[in-house]
Amino acid sequence: MSQVDESYSHGVGRASVVTGSRVTLQIEASVLRMVARPVPEAMFGSETLRHLVEEMWICMVEAGGVGIAAPQVGISWRLFVASARDYLPSTVFINPEVELIGDATVLGEEGCLSIPGWRSSKVPRHEKVRVSYRDMDGVARTEGYEGIAARIIQHELDHLNGRLFIDLDEHPIADNPPRRRARIAMAEMERRLQGEGG
Ligand SMILES: [Zn+2]
Repeated sequence: MSQVDESYSHGVGRASVVTGSRVTLQIEASVLRMVARPVPEAMFGSETLRHLVEEMWICMVEAGGVGIAAPQVGISWRLFVASARDYLPSTVFINPEVELIGDATVLGEEGCLSIPGWRSSKVPRHEKVRVSYRDMDGVARTEGYEGIAARIIQHELDHLNGRLFIDLDEHPIADNPPRRRARIAMAEMERRLQGEGG
């Protein structure tokens, strides 16, 4: 997931580097729409896994994000990393199982490193979750999260199931900066044409 504050614009230009493709144009066909496979047992404690996690951290930090899932770097494995100052300590979640607590959802703001330029403040998520996952050495852990941390985890978990936040967005047009800019440009153009005609 991209930054929770307005500094997201810094990450947009580099965000396509994360996936190595113009994901916004190819979402339906990409690895982003696949259900990822569990990380194989043999990978725990391996240099391969450690290297992948390190690369994911680099991509996330470079793009100014707070979370990134393996499918976003082209690897269809059930694994994501997340780190949000004051909200979520840097953690690697491998083969996570997420329990959504309660029935109620809250609307909140999200963006995604794989969908540059699209942001919404109306993405529904559960307020609290409990996550069981493995760390890089294969040790099983369980942790509870709420608020922004719970939101980031639900966003990243969705990436492992081929789901993107735009699928849940209840108000995509009003909060989509390219669309907003396009509307402004169209209105300007029409005003100008009317001015020329009259
Ligand atoms: Zn995302």
